[in-house]
Amino acid sequence: MENYSSLAVKYRPSNFKDIIGQKDITNFLQKAIQINKIPHTILFYGNKGIGKTSCARIFSKSVNCINFTKSLESCNICINCKSNNINIKEIDAASNNSVENIRNIIAQLNYKPYIGNYNIYIIDEAHMLSQSAFNALLKTIEEPPNHVIFILITTEKYKIIPTVLSRCQIFEFKTISEKDIIDNLKIIALKENFKIKDEFFLEIANRCDGSFRDSLFLLDKLSLSSNSSDLNNQIQITNKHKYIFLIKNICNKDITKSLHTLNELLYKNTEYRYVIYMLTTHIRNMLILFNNKNEDICDFEEIKFHYLKLIKLININFIINAIKIMHECDINYYRSYNKKLHIEISIIKICAF
Ligand SMILES: [Zn+2]
Repeated sequence: MENYSSLAVKYRPSNFKDIIGQKDITNFLQKAIQINKIPHTILFYGNKGIGKTSCARIFSKSVNCINFTKSLESCNICINCKSNNINIKEIDAASNNSVENIRNIIAQLNYKPYIGNYNIYIIDEAHMLSQSAFNALLKTIEEPPNHVIFILITTEKYKIIPTVLSRCQIFEFKTISEKDIIDNLKIIALKENFKIKDEFFLEIANRCDGSFRDSLFLLDKLSLSSNSSDLNNQIQITNKHKYIFLIKNICNKDITKSLHTLNELLYKNTEYRYVIYMLTTHIRNMLILFNNKNEDICDFEEIKFHYLKLIKLININFIINAIKIMHECDINYYRSYNKKLHIEISIIKICAF
């Protein structure tokens, strides 16, 4: 039997071109290698699952490649590419955050690389380093030996002390757009021979919060389901038509029907807050279309068609008020005692405008 590997592992990028949605950063790094102006202390920051660690590994391999190609990628076949693990040391600062851990690294720095030109130290979760660990690192990252590169990775840049930040070349990784997530999931689904309806890709993109890795976890789950009712259960897919129907009732200011549809949605979703998020997103999309009917809202044409019909029923102030109320509903969600009633009151307020 073939060994199972998750989609996130199977489709982990191995070249710059495979990294999704971070073109500015990959272009810069490729160019830096090409003209041999390689930064020695780098900080990658941004949300989880958007390519920081993959990019650090690819960059680390590429700086040592003997035949860096014309398309600005490592060749993957030279001796350095094949033995790149020797040069790359990955440190998880979540479990190695003490000053001793950093001193151990510093003690190794004078050793020249066994192969290639650089030893690379990737410090993941760098914000977890202790204050004294940061202090120990400070002098070193200011002027590392020529054969050393530090790559700090973090999701929480604000926790890294300013004196460290000021010594780093900083790259902000962007959250991946819905469109990029959907396009790439479709390519993977095709390769894997998964038969998945278009609406599920949108649902995944909505749920993964801009993290491509999370979207692959959800696609993994979907692929293990054999029929569409399983699919619904697996990721609690909710019917997008229900949201459209709810918004239609809201636009018609029909409180009874609105609450009835809301209850159907809440019944299917244990995550009430996700319903708030989805509803706000739908209303926001309508606002965008209100201003420009041709705007690309990253949704499917079918949904856009419904929006365009619904915005004829309301005016701009109604939409702005609805967004305001849903935003307050989201902010105060955890403080409310009866979550369901809390959402219901927001819907009633919107209808009553
Ligand atoms: Zn190579």
